[in-house]
Amino acid sequence: MSARDLATQLSYLAASVLFIIGLRSLTRPEAARRGMQQAAVGMLLAVCGTLINHAIVDYRWIAAGLVLGALIGYPLGMWVPTTALPQRIAMSLSFGALAATLVGVSEYHHVFHGGEGLIEPGRMAALGFEVLLGSITVTGALVAFGKLQEVIPSRPMTYRGQNFVNLVLFVAAVALFVLVVVDPTQSGAFYGMIGIAALLGLLMVLPIGGADMPVVVALLNSYCGLAASATGFALGNSILIICGALDGASGFLLSMLMSKAMNRSFSNVLFGAFGNAPAATSAAEGTALVARSISAEDAAIQLAYAQRVIIVPGYGMAVAQAQHAVRELAELIEKRGGEVKYAIHPVAGRMPGHMNVLLAEANVPYDRLYDMDEINGEFPQTDVALVIGANDVVNPAARSDPTSPIYGMPILDVDRAKAVIVLKRGMAVGFAGIENALFFAPATSMLFGDAKTSITRLVSEVKSA
Ligand code: NDP
Repeated sequence: MSARDLATQLSYLAASVLFIIGLRSLTRPEAARRGMQQAAVGMLLAVCGTLINHAIVDYRWIAAGLVLGALIGYPLGMWVPTTALPQRIAMSLSFGALAATLVGVSEYHHVFHGGEGLIEPGRMAALGFEVLLGSITVTGALVAFGKLQEVIPSRPMTYRGQNFVNLVLFVAAVALFVLVVVDPTQSGAFYGMIGIAALLGLLMVLPIGGADMPVVVALLNSYCGLAASATGFALGNSILIICGALDGASGFLLSMLMSKAMNRSFSNVLFGAFGNAPAATSAAEGTALVARSISAEDAAIQLAYAQRVIIVPGYGMAVAQAQHAVRELAELIEKRGGEVKYAIHPVAGRMPGHMNVLLAEANVPYDRLYDMDEINGEFPQTDVALVIGANDVVNPAARSDPTSPIYGMPILDVDRAKAVIVLKRGMAVGFAGIENALFFAPATSMLFGDAKTSITRLVSEVKSA
């Protein structure tokens, strides 16, 4: 092994260790930032190790790729708001899968048009697997992006016999895969497999509702990881094998955890057309329930004299970017002798850990953040539950209404608090598209307006209370 190859392998080894340590650090909020830095250093090492590979004879395309990648990546990283992260991730996922597919196509082309002329079945299987999963992910992730960004309708687009059609396409793609492994010279089968897999990705995701897209993105992420791992086997590249396996496993675990937090099974997510729910229940059934609104002055008085307050953040807090004002309000209440805790639902917001990230950014101490299971028992002794832009994660229908699409999803038992103050702009539904009886409950008062504006007003009112 030449000194260059040794340096490459050592950089891959160091990068792999840093990725694993980085992932480990991400499991604790206080170490999460460091985890990202460790992974970034790992990536830098892996890129440098690859750049010194002796097989590279011309750096011009690589330099062009670096410039183009930076031109696309920098604005994506700097300017896309955290509320739009799910669609940004879907788009990057599609790019990543496209890269894996193109590497597979180029490798196949190179074998038969670049002189090798022969490929052993194991390597051909890895190549086939790579382009099969890669193509499914390219189109599937693009549809997920479109739905999340609402470029295409986010409702499930269903038709009769869709599962049968998808099954036929899947069987056809697998049959072509087997054919091309047995006889790699069948280039028609190879490219046909890519076309069918791309169509399958499209048709598999279109019938899934927008509400389930983040789970789908996590699942596609695991496909993309497996495709990258297969690329590693096809090219004999250890870092791709390791990264792909890490990516594949974490994507799969994440999609399982998210499904569990929503009390959904995988088959229900993939074939259940969730998000197609009727728009309303109780209030729309003609019972004309009226939500009670409250002024900022009255809400501030309740908060100023409360002994126990639980803050329940949701997607609306992220939209309003109200986290800094929330911390200020909590500190004020604490100064007046009240106890403040934060209740974190695992799928509050639009991505796992969304609320933790925002509150950490606002320097809310980690020990004030409580998981759903830890805090649910405390609501009955709570004087005020302050719900900030949360809706589905506090919807009691999940507990009590078997006809509700979110029935069975674990929720924060906010409705059991002595008093509830909900901050939102109007009576709009949340992500699941269903009404929330909490807003009409006798103990609930609605403080209407943008969450940040409302909290800023609460801060000044509590100060003068
Ligand atoms: P929801 O989406 O249920 O509700 C958010 C509420 O915030 C809306 O009803 C909206 O009402 C309000 N809102 C929006 N903007 C503002 C603003 N500027 N100021 C004040 N309020 C605002 O959010 P939840 O966090 O309760 O629930 C998350 C949902 O997302 C769940 O259904 C979950 O299953 C889903 N989901 C989450 C994932 C995750 O990983 N976190 C992944 C997949 C899905 P209004 O417009 O009236 O103000």
